[in-house]
Amino acid sequence: MQNHTTPDLIDQYGRQASYLRLSITDRCDLRCTYCMSEQMTFLPRKEVLSLEELERLVGAFVDNGVRKVRLTGGEPLVRKNVMSLFEGLSRHLKSGALDELTLTTNGTLLGKYAKQLVDFGVKRVNVSLDTLCPEKYAEITRWGRLERVLGSIEEALAAGLRIKINTVAVKGKIEEEIDDLIKFTHGRGMDLTLIETMPLGDVGFDRNEQYLSLTDFRQDLDQRWSLTDIGDTTGGPSRYVRVGETGGRLGFITPMSNNFCSTCNRVRVSCTGTLFTCMGAEGAVDLRDALRSSESNAAVEGLIRETVFAKPECHNFSIDENSTSGIKRHMSFLGG
Ligand code: SAM
Ligand code: SF4
Repeated sequence: MQNHTTPDLIDQYGRQASYLRLSITDRCDLRCTYCMSEQMTFLPRKEVLSLEELERLVGAFVDNGVRKVRLTGGEPLVRKNVMSLFEGLSRHLKSGALDELTLTTNGTLLGKYAKQLVDFGVKRVNVSLDTLCPEKYAEITRWGRLERVLGSIEEALAAGLRIKINTVAVKGKIEEEIDDLIKFTHGRGMDLTLIETMPLGDVGFDRNEQYLSLTDFRQDLDQRWSLTDIGDTTGGPSRYVRVGETGGRLGFITPMSNNFCSTCNRVRVSCTGTLFTCMGAEGAVDLRDALRSSESNAAVEGLIRETVFAKPECHNFSIDENSTSGIKRHMSFLGG
């Protein structure tokens, strides 16, 4: 239901920004090898927006026509008092200004918070999981415990949350995992989405070694599974197929090998209040000063409208032979 009393955020190419992805912390309780280096230096706390500032910022976007908000990180559920933020934001769901409030999580704390999330109007969540083998899970996340995430998933399903599992398709690793992941997710009524690795931040590996084109991988899957294209799309980079053998949905997020920019409806804000209209470009605008320098949202809303209008037409990722990283910031800064 669109509320026509709120102005829409339309960019210079006519796309409407209706989906905000907001990182609420750069910290995490895991260190996934494609996302972070082992020794991460996290931001000083004063640079990170307070929960009150985050809530105000979301209000500014909602007042300008944003209809869907996803909280991410780092790991959003490690943020102290995070449930008070969900509670505050749930008023936009109740008023009808927001269609959806959701989050992306590594799942370690999801079991603990699942019931409260449901109470605050969250209906579905994305959980990141790359393997069902405990040893490999510990290796990928550097110290995570698989049983904890699997337990959380069961608790979240029991609480009534719908779950989509996100799996980063790391070359040389995903090939062994995919069949088990399809059976596991679809057997529990969950969607599964594969994500191409993106060259964000130095993680101490050559990105070329991690990158697998999902367009090519889909052809391998076609040999073993009956895949039928289905039209479902989120306005983002996901393309879905139905898996005949399970009846479940399998998504492919292909920012590197497939251009989704013409239908992009999303904007991202870092935990420091920096607005990125395109994840694959370095350009960004700071909203924090405008937020902190006035109790009114007028200045920050003006900046949001100007920045969204100037959104670039297309992203600019590249993995070339001479670089280990395309974009300098880590995924955990902006949240994916
Ligand atoms: N900590 C939460 C989680 O892991 O779901 C939320 C933040 S995490 C940065 C968001 C998503 O980005 C996760 O699904 C993660 O697997 C993915 N991700 C992290 N680094 C990536 C990279 N270099 N390329 C592609 N996806 C990446
Ligand atoms: Fe943490 Fe998520 Fe990054 Fe893994 S992908 S290190 S869980 S922020």
